[in-house]
Amino acid sequence: MSKVRVRFAPSPTGPLHLGGVRTALYDYLFAKNQGGDFILRIEDTDTARYVEGAEDYIMEALQWCGIIPDESPVHGGPYGPYRQSERRAIYERYTRQILETDYAYIAFDTPEELEAIRQEYEAKGEVFSYNSLTRQRLKNSIALSEDEVKALLEVQTPFVVRFKMPMDRILNLEDLIRGNFSINTNTLDDKVLVKNDGMPTYHFANIIDDHEMKISHVIRGEEWLPSMGLHVLLYEAMGWQAPQFAHLSLILKPEGKGKLSKRDGDKFGFPVFPLNFTDPQTGQVSQGYKEAGYLPQAFINFLALLGWTPSGEREILSLEEMVKDFDLNKVHKAGARFSKEKAEWFNHEYLKALPDQEILTLLKPHLPASQSALTDEKILRIIGLMKERATFPADIYHHGKFFFEAPSNYDEKAVKKAWNETTAGIMSQLAEKLSAKEGDFSSESLKETLHHFAEEHHLGMGKVMMPLRLALVGELKGPDVPDILELIGPAEAITRIKNAVSRIG
Ligand code: GLU
Repeated sequence: MSKVRVRFAPSPTGPLHLGGVRTALYDYLFAKNQGGDFILRIEDTDTARYVEGAEDYIMEALQWCGIIPDESPVHGGPYGPYRQSERRAIYERYTRQILETDYAYIAFDTPEELEAIRQEYEAKGEVFSYNSLTRQRLKNSIALSEDEVKALLEVQTPFVVRFKMPMDRILNLEDLIRGNFSINTNTLDDKVLVKNDGMPTYHFANIIDDHEMKISHVIRGEEWLPSMGLHVLLYEAMGWQAPQFAHLSLILKPEGKGKLSKRDGDKFGFPVFPLNFTDPQTGQVSQGYKEAGYLPQAFINFLALLGWTPSGEREILSLEEMVKDFDLNKVHKAGARFSKEKAEWFNHEYLKALPDQEILTLLKPHLPASQSALTDEKILRIIGLMKERATFPADIYHHGKFFFEAPSNYDEKAVKKAWNETTAGIMSQLAEKLSAKEGDFSSESLKETLHHFAEEHHLGMGKVMMPLRLALVGELKGPDVPDILELIGPAEAITRIKNAVSRIG
């Protein structure tokens, strides 16, 4: 069998959506699982929809995810160029070739003429289609005489090349995910293959490149399923063997119906793009997973499981493990419902498994400049205490602010629960006890001290710990109180207790 070669072929018409990244990921996983090549091809023949910066964005996004192409516009390779806009000469050669077959013809109808016909049909309550039934009555090399065509060409009349869709044929198609299905060619139209500027449309350029680049498997989004019949016929027309096809189902909205959109992301507060994207026209910035604090390993792990079930009960898999296990037979036919909670769960799992030193690097940009006074050693200890409760690196600061600064106010409910008329007295005595302990302020020894203190004063532990926590944190949350005490140190601890006594009463 020839080598497995799979391409990801995005059009640079905007930022890559979550679904696009997942397609690239599945392309990559399948190729690598089969010991094959993963190719990135930029499909930029549609100049009207070209968005400045989109190509760089695609490259950076794949790079961040660790989905590294073997061949691409930047990596090069034996089948380049990998940007369609640079392959014009190749397409021209094949345009001449297909025009010599009975599968294509040229058409002179102007966009205005076609629009007028469309409206005529609409007025009759019908839908116009350029196809085997209508082509005889239109302005093309099938309907016109040879002389008429010649005359039009002589005066440089612009024309397009159209596919001549065969009539009354049943196409039996095979999709590696969806199984077999058939379509009647009478339901398909005569698609434009080459535009009047000589550039091929998506369909023609796509099959030429897949053939030239020796692509063995086309794994792409289900929005391309309706084009599969045409593509298979184009291979037939060119006398080429078609690759195998697999169409991936959609990523669905969190509520389960319809395609996940940017609007859903805005509504429920999660990104739908891998990286921040600044719209070059409006200047509007859409948040990316990277900038929201997701780790690339968590992001791709989460994404891979939106539509694929690995073997066993496993959920946490590295890219290498996913490559080993990936199987198109286990890719779901049905759409996969997006879940923000699940995405966050993955990030939490990956974050807490990172070495503290790496979390420190990720956390630092989130620390206000005023906090830089804390030593790395202290911040590393805070990370050790807080990472179990963090989803994103920044959470360690936001949920652990009390390590960095004294509480500015006290949660009202917590005050009601933890503080009564005797508390101020108890806390003042505790402050004295702690100031006598400056020599050993380790969490172990503090634990003992607090126990003794409670015993001496015939108090339950809660009567000591709750108000103390309130004084240190401002609410009844956070890691063990002795750990907090040790980290902030005796001077700060005593100041906070005294503050609480005077402010709460
Ligand atoms: N350029 C198409 C896209 O933007 C590629 C579709 C395909 O993979 O054939 O998705």
